[in-house]
Amino acid sequence: MVSAPAPAPAATTTASPTIPELFARQQARSEALRREAVSSRAARLRKLDKWITANRDAICEALYTDFRKPAAETDITEVWSSQTELRHTLSHLEKWSAPRKVSTPMALVGSRGWVQTEPKGVCLIIAPWNYPFYLAVDPLISALAAGNAVILKPSEMTPAVAALLSRMCRELFDPAEVTVVEGDKDVATELLKLPFAHIFFTGSPQVGKIVMRAAAEHLTSVTLELGGKSPAVIDETANLRDAAEKIIWGKGVNAGQTCVAPDYVMVHENVRDELLTELRDATRRFYSPEGQPVIESDSYARIVNNHHYERLAGLLDDARSQGVTVAQGGATDAGQCFIEPTVLLDPPTDSRIMQEEIFGPLLPVLTFRNLMEAVDEVNTRPKPLALYVFTQDDENQRYLLQNIPAGGACVNETILHLAHPDLPFGGFGNSGLGRCHGHAGFMAFSNEKSVLKQHVGLTSIKALYPPYTPRVKSM
Ligand code: NAD
Repeated sequence: MVSAPAPAPAATTTASPTIPELFARQQARSEALRREAVSSRAARLRKLDKWITANRDAICEALYTDFRKPAAETDITEVWSSQTELRHTLSHLEKWSAPRKVSTPMALVGSRGWVQTEPKGVCLIIAPWNYPFYLAVDPLISALAAGNAVILKPSEMTPAVAALLSRMCRELFDPAEVTVVEGDKDVATELLKLPFAHIFFTGSPQVGKIVMRAAAEHLTSVTLELGGKSPAVIDETANLRDAAEKIIWGKGVNAGQTCVAPDYVMVHENVRDELLTELRDATRRFYSPEGQPVIESDSYARIVNNHHYERLAGLLDDARSQGVTVAQGGATDAGQCFIEPTVLLDPPTDSRIMQEEIFGPLLPVLTFRNLMEAVDEVNTRPKPLALYVFTQDDENQRYLLQNIPAGGACVNETILHLAHPDLPFGGFGNSGLGRCHGHAGFMAFSNEKSVLKQHVGLTSIKALYPPYTPRVKSM
């Protein structure tokens, strides 16, 4: 770990390199990394895999310290997801790194063409707090697979995980290859002044714009994994018990602090009441199986800090003051940063809760009379990161997928598209730019060098060499 340069924070020691010094060391090393065999990149990934296995308890403990995330959720969404990405990458790395031949057009007969990948160089990863281990490690895997040096800045809002990531990188990597720089937005601002080869940012659309502006200064490429309001649309044919379970799970995991959590539900008016009953039942089965209050459940996380608790409590208060009905839940506890899974009926579409990304366990439910109405309502907002369609009708599925632009989608499921390593993951417009996971992640951190090889003394375009004849001029 290094500290930000002047003004010197208390933690700075004379031994710590400044951020520009660290960057310069990585730039020097990145030349050697460029020449490394793919087997050396794979060896680095295998070390990371072993470290995660050996430190599974420490990862769970850090997540519990930061926001009481249940160990079972950490196992699935931080440990398993990271190792799945790692192992998928390891088993495809040779193939992804190999030159890709392309066919030769008639006009260039005699030559050969191929595309070879090369590392971009020194890359910056800025991670958010909501899946603070996975969302730091996942892009790190892609960056290392592609042969880059990396500076990783975790979120300051999850300090236990940030400290763990620092320890992990110290134990595994030479800081000239991978290092963690801890700190808040001031540190991120310092980092963003440097001419990185690629910036991979996960966070809010507001900060995504700041990152893109800073990247423009150096014409640095960016991947922006952002957020937004991801809708779940439920038609009359949907299996409502199934839909309710999947929505409550998608909204309840991480206490709703998930970029692809279903933000709000649009349901056909004829099945709304049945859906509300199913949502209540699913919540009870998951978090109150013995009838105890949800706050006593060991399966339910807390809101990350007071700031976000107050933000969410404010959204709930605003909705109540506008006369919005709370169909289930509504309990809060400021001391524990606890907010119960809460369903709100028909908040006005111009209310704050329908305009801002909720990023917490509040679930507005709105009704529609026909699919066109649902599509129009969803499309009044910026393009979502995810779209969830619940239907058993193929024509309705086709209509909704075709008419609602979104980064990704699930049919009769929530969230799980991001767990599929062969499905490129990312946003569209306000919800992001670029793709990650699997091959898409590898490509985000690679430059594609297109090569044409010609025989010496041969060219297909001799007829085009000057001096031009009248026939060539008229072509
Ligand atoms: P955030 O944008 O506040 O912070 C993300 C990172 O940016 C942190 O490391 C933070 O220190 C840094 N940062 C904050 N202000 C900055 C500034 N002015 N300049 C430079 N860096 C700055 O986001 P968050 O609150 O950590 O995460 C929540 C958001 O992230 C939500 O919008 C969510 O939807 C989104 N998200 C998206 C994905 C995805 O994969 N698309 C995944 C998780 C979260």
